[in-house]
Amino acid sequence: MKIKGIHHISNIVNHPQENIEFYTSLLGLRLIKKAVNFDDAKTYHFYYGNHNGDLGTVITSFPLGQDAKDGKKGGGQAVSTYYIIPDGSFDFWHDRIKSFGLKTNEITRFGKKHLVFSDYLGITNELVEDSSGITNLYEYNGVTSKNSIKGFYGALIHSMKPKDTVKFFTDVLGAKISNEDQDFIRLELNSEIGNYLDINKDAYLRGKLSKGTIHHIAFGVETLEALINFKKTIEDLGIVVTDIKDRNFFNAIYFREPGGSIVELSTMKPGFNMEEFDDRAEKLFLPPHFEANREEIESNLIPVYVNEVSKLKRHHYLDSIGYLDANRFDFVLRRLNELAKLKNTRDLSELEIKEQKELRDEYINVFKNNFKNTLESIEVED
Ligand code: ZN
Repeated sequence: MKIKGIHHISNIVNHPQENIEFYTSLLGLRLIKKAVNFDDAKTYHFYYGNHNGDLGTVITSFPLGQDAKDGKKGGGQAVSTYYIIPDGSFDFWHDRIKSFGLKTNEITRFGKKHLVFSDYLGITNELVEDSSGITNLYEYNGVTSKNSIKGFYGALIHSMKPKDTVKFFTDVLGAKISNEDQDFIRLELNSEIGNYLDINKDAYLRGKLSKGTIHHIAFGVETLEALINFKKTIEDLGIVVTDIKDRNFFNAIYFREPGGSIVELSTMKPGFNMEEFDDRAEKLFLPPHFEANREEIESNLIPVYVNEVSKLKRHHYLDSIGYLDANRFDFVLRRLNELAKLKNTRDLSELEIKEQKELRDEYINVFKNNFKNTLESIEVED
C-alpha cells in the first residue's frame, strides 16, 4: 500500500483577517472555502488553493484568535511548507514578498534554490521553481498565472526519532528514500505534486502545537477501502488511530507517526465541488450538522473579507463590534490625514475646520483609550 502525495497542510494561526490577507493578497491563492472547524463552530477554518481547489494545492488555517497561546516549533512537527512556483518567477516573488514588508532568505536544498520567508507568526514557507503541477489560473492582486503558486512541492519535518519516522514512511506508507545529504533524508511520495518530505537527521525535543505552528500534513489515499486498510495496518503496529472522520470533502484518519508528528490520511474524493462556491467564498460553508444554527454561528465570528492590500498589517479587533470600531478608526485617521495635507496647500474652510476638530476629539476621546493596540499598527501623518 502506498500513500499519494501531500493532500493538504493545516496551520494554526491567530487573526482571521490577517490570515486571509497573507494567503490571498500576498500569495495570490484563492480562498476556496470559508468554513468553521467541524469540531468547534466558534473557530473558522479557511481553505486556500488553486483555481480549482485541487488536492495537493490546499493549505488550510485555523485562526484561534489573538489571545491564543503561542506555539513552539520543535520535534514532532512539520516546520516548513514548500510551494511550487513556475520556472522564471523566483525574482518576482522575492520582490513581492519584500514589498509586503516581510524578510526573505535564500537557501539551497538538494540542488534547488528555495526562497524562504515567514508570516507574522513565524510559520515558515519556501518557494521553489519547478515545472511540475498544472498552471494555477486564479489571478489576484497582481499575481498572474505566469507567477502563481501551483501547489505543494513538499515539506520539512523535525522528528523526535528521525530514523523511526523514515522507517514508518517507507515501510508502512510506501515512500522511498530519494536523496540524502549531511543533514537531511529526502523521502519521495507517489504523486505529481506535493511529493517530497525532508526529514532532519537530528532528533528534536517535542515542540508545542498552537498559534504559529503547522498542525498536520494530510496525505492522499486513493479510496475509502485503502483508508480502512491503512487504519488497520497502523493500529496493528500499536499506534492509536482515530475513527474515520467525515470531513465533507473527504474522509480522514489521524494519528502520530513514531517521531511524534500528526499525520492525516485523506481520501481523494469527493473533493471540493468548486461549482457550489462563490468566487471569493463569501458564504460561510457549514456542514449539515451545524446548518440549523447558522445565524448564531455567523454572529459569533469576526467578519472577514478578501480584499486587495499591498502591505500586510495587524488587525486587533476581536469581534464584529470591534471590527466596526476599527473601520471607523481607519476612516477617522484617513480623513484627518487628508485634511492635514489639504491645509498645506490652502486654507481650510470653516466647515473643514469644524470637521477636523470633531474628528480630532473623536480620535482622542474615544479611540485613544480604547484602542491602544490598534494605534501601534497605524502611522499618523499629522
Ligand atoms: Zn487536515
